[in-house]
Amino acid sequence: MKELKTKLFILLTAALLFQSCSLVPLTGRRQLSLVSDTDMFATSLVQYDQFLKENKLSTNTTEKNLVSRVGNRIKNAVTVYFAQHDLSQELNGFAWEFNLIESEEVNAWCMPGGKVVVYSGILPVTQNEAGLAVVMAHEIAHAVAKHSNERMSQALLAQLGGQTLAAALQEKPQKTQELWMALFGVGVQIGAVLPYSRLQESEADHLGLIFMAMAGYDPNASIVFWQRMSQKAGPKPPEFLSTHPSDKNRIKKIKSQIPEAMKYYRK
Ligand SMILES: [Zn+2]
Repeated sequence: MKELKTKLFILLTAALLFQSCSLVPLTGRRQLSLVSDTDMFATSLVQYDQFLKENKLSTNTTEKNLVSRVGNRIKNAVTVYFAQHDLSQELNGFAWEFNLIESEEVNAWCMPGGKVVVYSGILPVTQNEAGLAVVMAHEIAHAVAKHSNERMSQALLAQLGGQTLAAALQEKPQKTQELWMALFGVGVQIGAVLPYSRLQESEADHLGLIFMAMAGYDPNASIVFWQRMSQKAGPKPPEFLSTHPSDKNRIKKIKSQIPEAMKYYRK
C-alpha cells in the first residue's frame, strides 16, 4: 500500500511538472513554471517598493549617475537584442528602474520586470564602469531569462506544497515574502539562501557578456571582475556570492565565450 502511494505520488508530481514546464524563448530551455509573469511582476513591485522604503538610497550623485547610465545602456542593448530575435513581446510588462542604495553589503539584483538595485558595497569590487556593467548585465540576463520564475516555482514546490504564488502570499504571507527576498540574497542571515543553479549562472554569464558588449563595454572586464569577486569567497561569503555561487570553471568558461561576445562589441 505504501509503495503504491509512493508510486502514485511520483506519477502525480511528474504529471504536474510536465504540465508546468514551459519553453523559455530566450534560452530555448524548458523551465519549471508554476508562476505567471503577471504574478511575478505584481509581487516584484510590492516587494521592491517595500525594499526601497526600508533602505537608504545613495546620495552620491556621481555613483548614482554611473548606475543609471550603465543600466540604461544595457537596457537599450537588451531591447535591441530581443527585437533582433523577434522576442520583443517577452519584455512586455518590464518597467526598468536602476537604483543605488547605501549599504556595506556586496550585492546587486534585478527583480522580475526590471527593477535593478545595486548596493554601494559592491562598487569597490566592480571598480570601474565596465566592472559595474558585468554585474548589471548579468543580473538583467537572469531577469530576462525568467530565472526567478523558475526558482520561485521550485521554492513553492519544495517549501509550500506547490501552491500558486498568489495563494501562498495570501495564506502564508511572511514565509512567502521571506522566500522571495531570499531569491535576491536579501536578509539571507535570517532565511535560507536560494542560489541560482549552475545552469542559470552559465546562461546569465553568456547572455550578460553579449548584452554588455552590445552596450559598448569590453566583455573582457568580466574575467577580472570574477577574479576579484572570487577572492571574496570564504566561510562568510558576501550576499552576491551566496546567490551566485561561483566555481573555478566559471572564469574558464567565460574566457571561451569572449570571442563570440566580441562580435557584438560596439565601442
Ligand atoms: Zn548569477
